[in-house]
Amino acid sequence: MTDAPHRLDCSAAALTANWRALARLSGAAACGAAVKADGYGLGATAVATRLADAGCRDFYVASWAEAAALAPALAGGAARIAVLHGARAADLALADLPGVRPVLSTAAQVRRWRDAGAGRACDVMVDTGMNRLGVAPAEVAEGLLDGLTLDTLTSHLACADDPGHPLNATQRARFAALTGRTAAKRMSLANSAGIALGASYHFDLTRPGLALYGGVPVAALGDVLRPVATVVAEVLQRRLVRAGETVGYNATWRAPADTAVVIANLGYADGYYRAFSDRGRAYAGDAALPVIGRVSMDLVALDATGVDVDEGDWLRFDPDLPAMAAASGTSQYELLTGLGRRLERRWA
Ligand SMILES: *Cc1c(COP(=O)(O)O)cnc(C)c1O
Repeated sequence: MTDAPHRLDCSAAALTANWRALARLSGAAACGAAVKADGYGLGATAVATRLADAGCRDFYVASWAEAAALAPALAGGAARIAVLHGARAADLALADLPGVRPVLSTAAQVRRWRDAGAGRACDVMVDTGMNRLGVAPAEVAEGLLDGLTLDTLTSHLACADDPGHPLNATQRARFAALTGRTAAKRMSLANSAGIALGASYHFDLTRPGLALYGGVPVAALGDVLRPVATVVAEVLQRRLVRAGETVGYNATWRAPADTAVVIANLGYADGYYRAFSDRGRAYAGDAALPVIGRVSMDLVALDATGVDVDEGDWLRFDPDLPAMAAASGTSQYELLTGLGRRLERRWA
């Protein structure tokens, strides 16, 4: 892998700085980490071991397969893993993984866990208005959770990245109304953007994901977060495209004047989506090179006019997720989780 012509450079310093900033903003609440989808594409084990060293104790994955892959790396420490998609019947075979607990989200899951779990700890997701996963507050009031060894009562905000949306306050109030109504040791509501909504949203534990990885869900977090992952790729060829000639598939870009063009070893198969055609940007040193024409599966063309960059040199693609999302019309979440398998994740 080390000789590959492209990779993903990941900064442990930026990752831990982002977690510490979010922990500070979480005030008295503990700060966990969402590492589902293989750590938002960066590598769940690489992310979680570094954050555990920094003091993070609560890690969230989507499935038991993700939990089983991550658990050995955290074994022996104080960190715990919560499985957001609960416990299906098929998951019970894995349910004795040490330090792993489900976030139960349906009445059937609650009963299944109570029958099979032998008093083992669990979390419960309660739906306060997103209408995605979770039991209803009315079911909680009717005693559905009685007899569970309930660690954390959890809910999830639908509109935290839209601070003015009235659903935020509605969800917060519905969740706060459950305080003291269950045996839960802790309550947890806020994702990354929810942390920025203020102390009344923090409860006992926050669960950021995107912001750990340098995504900026709300402008209020823009000053405190740093990019973590940078795609770098080698230049395969430099060429001079004469005025009037075109570049790439379907000849969508036509040279207005003689133009120096470099072809880099990166494409949509690496998660550098076709939406970056004529919109993306890379850097050689401080010089910015705009993407021109269609992004191909494995290649992308950039305007290198006036920039001293040649075959064998490396380009850094723009790591600014909000800017990338705005340029491409793709969400910051998809940009991270779409990063291609063949990019080696190199941590430094
Ligand atoms: C993904 C997820 C998070 C993290 O959300 P971000 O917006 O990435 O911070 C937190 N809680 C739940 C339930 C999630 O599914």
